[in-house]
Amino acid sequence: MPDYSFVCEECGAHFTKHLGFNQNRSNLVCPNGHHHIQREYTAPQVNFKGSGFYVTDSKKTDKAA
Ligand SMILES: [Zn+2]
Repeated sequence: MPDYSFVCEECGAHFTKHLGFNQNRSNLVCPNGHHHIQREYTAPQVNFKGSGFYVTDSKKTDKAA
C-alpha cells in the first residue's frame, strides 16, 4: 500500500497519509488542523525536499545530503 501525498490548500503544508481501501479521505486534516486537503500528484520521493517544503517547526533547516 502506498503512502499518498497531500497538500493543504490553506497553509500549504505537505504531508503523507497511508490510506487503506476503506479510508475516508474526507476526514483528512493537515498537520495544522485544516480540512481543505488536496491530493498531490507527484512522483514518489521526488519534489519533496525542494524549495516549497513548508514546515511549521523550522527545526529541520536543510537536510540535503
Ligand atoms: Zn493546513
